[in-house]
Amino acid sequence: MLTALTGVHGDRADAVTVAGRTASYEELLAAARQVAADLAASGVPAFAVTATASLETVAAVVGALLAGVPCVPLPPDAGPAELGHILRDSGARTIEVDFARRSDRTPAPAAVRTPDDPALILYTSGTTGAPKGVVLSSAAITADLDALAEAWQWTADDTLVHGLPLFHVHGLVLGVLGALRTGSRLVHTGRPTPEAYAAAGGSLYFGVPTVWSRIAREPHAAAALSGARLLVSGSAALPAPVFRDIEGASGHRIVERYGMTETLITVSGRAGGDLHPGTVGTPLPGIATRIAAEDGAEIGELQLTGPTLFSGYLGRPEATAAAYTEDGWFRTGDIAAVDEKDGVHRIVGRASTDMIKSGGYRIGAGEIENALLDHPRVREAAVVGVPDADLGQRIVAFVVAEGVTGAELTDFVAAHLSVHKRPREVRFVGAIPRNAMGKPQKRLLLDPPAPGDR
Ligand code: ATP
Ligand code: MG
Repeated sequence: MLTALTGVHGDRADAVTVAGRTASYEELLAAARQVAADLAASGVPAFAVTATASLETVAAVVGALLAGVPCVPLPPDAGPAELGHILRDSGARTIEVDFARRSDRTPAPAAVRTPDDPALILYTSGTTGAPKGVVLSSAAITADLDALAEAWQWTADDTLVHGLPLFHVHGLVLGVLGALRTGSRLVHTGRPTPEAYAAAGGSLYFGVPTVWSRIAREPHAAAALSGARLLVSGSAALPAPVFRDIEGASGHRIVERYGMTETLITVSGRAGGDLHPGTVGTPLPGIATRIAAEDGAEIGELQLTGPTLFSGYLGRPEATAAAYTEDGWFRTGDIAAVDEKDGVHRIVGRASTDMIKSGGYRIGAGEIENALLDHPRVREAAVVGVPDADLGQRIVAFVVAEGVTGAELTDFVAAHLSVHKRPREVRFVGAIPRNAMGKPQKRLLLDPPAPGDR
């Protein structure tokens, strides 16, 4: 990573722009060296960085990589409970860095570091439980970035644009370290608004589905992306109508990719490939996948192996062991299907919340969500299975919609899919709760139960 930073692209004056401030590689590196020197002097075991959308965050992360001190980015808007959890769990400490006093000293490394030592400790999104610290080595990170560069034909000629949080894989590993490793220019828009994306003039754009959905609703913003080379979506399922609207306005089919904090990005569509809504492409170079399906079913848990996998959950050896099968494959906990002919993967959803077992059928929540989103009145949809004495689980749809009745929507789903996929109940809500990455927080829809639920 250091080589990509210093040797290859040392002369670029506008290498990194974050929230309107621009630094050259030289300036970024000088700031990062200052961080590394201060870190080495501090002796902290792990470096907690409040990951605001700023050049300082980029310099702090690069400084930690230079010093060989594991970096723990903190969500800048996290409440005291979440911050306390991450700081206690990781043992990471913040240090004061004076960016005005920039250093060209190359610091003595804190310890001898190998590519397999921890580089980043990232916390999972906490969708299914308390966020877990995921230890990532620089070997895993560089393997993933190089595989993505190949899949997306991502080079130093690109200008990457995004406005994603800098404390998860998407915004930080792909969105910052990916730009540094490939030598592409980085423009972080501060906030991921349609206006900012439209004005940025990039070649490569990253977004979570919420970002693409907002852009799809502003056709002039989507049209402004027609000059881009590649649009990429990930972190949650991209609704098919959003895929189609963006294609209609910009001429681009969005490349969807799938990953987890624990595995980095493992499956993706390819630049120039055959792209279809609802599919996430094929395994990246070096990754092998398999579907653990019960009794001949076509869908089952996605399991994988490869060089991008994490080193383990921090301080949770049992959880790490439980994440692997007996024969050493990582269990994603996501349900997927693989097309027999072309190997293209489709993510059905999470085994824990998106796999509904109702009346003897196994039904993927995402299929029903996509059907609901095809209704012109529906803006958002989240489908869950709730315990039912008769059916095992019954299908309940939460929708954001106006000018349509629940009965019309259940008939619409039954007509487009099949009768057993008809929601038994439709609940109209003002919004689907989502986290910073646009992941639906289905637990919050069900827990605590809505009034009148029982
Ligand atoms: P936690 O592990 O704490 O419950 P989390 O799983 O949401 O939280 P992340 O590691 O940030 O934390 O997210 C990984 C998950 O995001 C995957 O397991 C998958 O469910 C979902 N995901 C990522 N990309 C896609 C995609 N393209 N389509 C559908 N789901 C996706
Ligand atoms: Mg997870």
